[in-house]
Amino acid sequence: MTEDKPVSRLFRGGRIFDGRQFHENSEIRCGGDGLVVEVGQNLTPAPEDEIVDIEGHLLMPGLVDCHVHFREPGLERKEGYSTGSAGALHGGVTTVLEIQNNPPLMVSRELLEAKLEGLKGVSRVDYAPYGSLTLDAIGALAGMTSLCPAVKCFLGCSTGAGGVKSRDEMKALFTEAAGAGIQVVAHCEDNAVMERASQIASPDEALRHDFMRPSEAEIVSIRDAIEVAEEVGTRLHVFHISSEAGARLVVEAAKQGFPVTGSTAPHYLLLTGDEAHEAPENRMKVNPSVKSPDDRRGLAKLLGEGLLPVVGTDHAPHPLDEKRRPYSKAPSGFPSVDILLPLMFAVADRHDLPLETVLSAVTSAPAEEFGLSGKGALAPGCSADLVLVDTESVFQVDESLLPSRSKWSPYHGWELRGRPLKVWLRGRPVWDGSGPVGVPLGRPLFPK
Ligand SMILES: [Zn+2]
Repeated sequence: MTEDKPVSRLFRGGRIFDGRQFHENSEIRCGGDGLVVEVGQNLTPAPEDEIVDIEGHLLMPGLVDCHVHFREPGLERKEGYSTGSAGALHGGVTTVLEIQNNPPLMVSRELLEAKLEGLKGVSRVDYAPYGSLTLDAIGALAGMTSLCPAVKCFLGCSTGAGGVKSRDEMKALFTEAAGAGIQVVAHCEDNAVMERASQIASPDEALRHDFMRPSEAEIVSIRDAIEVAEEVGTRLHVFHISSEAGARLVVEAAKQGFPVTGSTAPHYLLLTGDEAHEAPENRMKVNPSVKSPDDRRGLAKLLGEGLLPVVGTDHAPHPLDEKRRPYSKAPSGFPSVDILLPLMFAVADRHDLPLETVLSAVTSAPAEEFGLSGKGALAPGCSADLVLVDTESVFQVDESLLPSRSKWSPYHGWELRGRPLKVWLRGRPVWDGSGPVGVPLGRPLFPK
């Protein structure tokens, strides 16, 4: 049944994760206004409360994925918010921060307004698209700041983006963002380093993505970006860091007091360059490339220590027939928002990390990083975005059952745990374990 209004509920009989820590034998009350009323033990239900027995399962905040590509408007044949947001719910995600990297790029207030308006009644999750930081946005940023969490800058070329051409151009863009008081989120890979790699590659090396896009490309680019950000006073967040050395540059800058932060992605914590190279159909070809086992371990260590506290998927849907092209012609990126929560359980299990630290990376940490108050946490006044999770049963990923449009996954066949059983958005049921429930209820988070 679809609810017109959220019903007040008392959830009891299980465990609660509040975005930071676990509470055993705890309960949570949510009001008819779609907000959390209280979290604690032995709560007294209000007369109108529906009592929900969560049967020993885990109840936690809806996940915040701070990095997805849904390609709407313009390239809905690859995804769109309708299928993308259904996939998000399948992965336990109730908020997406989304990057437009196909035309039209979000370089003006008018384009952002049109995008936000066009997604009403389409998205099943709350959404906040980033602005696009390119030369076309110069002069327009001041008008965009109230409509987006940050602006995205491609410092290296990637599928759908040419990248910044020079340090002078980067400086002009970062200066503009600093002037508008908006954070820059960046894809860091250096075009010159990648160009050099392609010139010296043997025929075999030229087929290896981690040779053509080596760690050095990321390290040089992050170093440059930090230098320029410090020089002109820009707040900088480096997305999807793939190398330990790259992450350590960000950690070091933050230690020195600069407003520099970063995030990684599940694939850099779960895959290796060898696996990516051997995967059929370029399924694990992604930018930045997946790196070495040492990088994977190093990134996981930094995540566990709270020094690299945010994870976003970089969900990048492409039809499989495009991925099947010869290596150099296949697009980079793959879908993954649709299994984000199970992937995070895998990260915790494989690296023996505290589950609360790993789950914080996709709940409270991204919400705090991008100023999304009331999201990613369960405390009085927070949005009642809830995921009920079966933390124990193992299931096998079947790509044909995933709701996002691509119908393929680099994780097809993997055995994972942590499947979302039910999802609520602002107190309304939106996912029942097998599919979306009711009409799309997603709202824009900006303007606030
Ligand atoms: Zn991306």
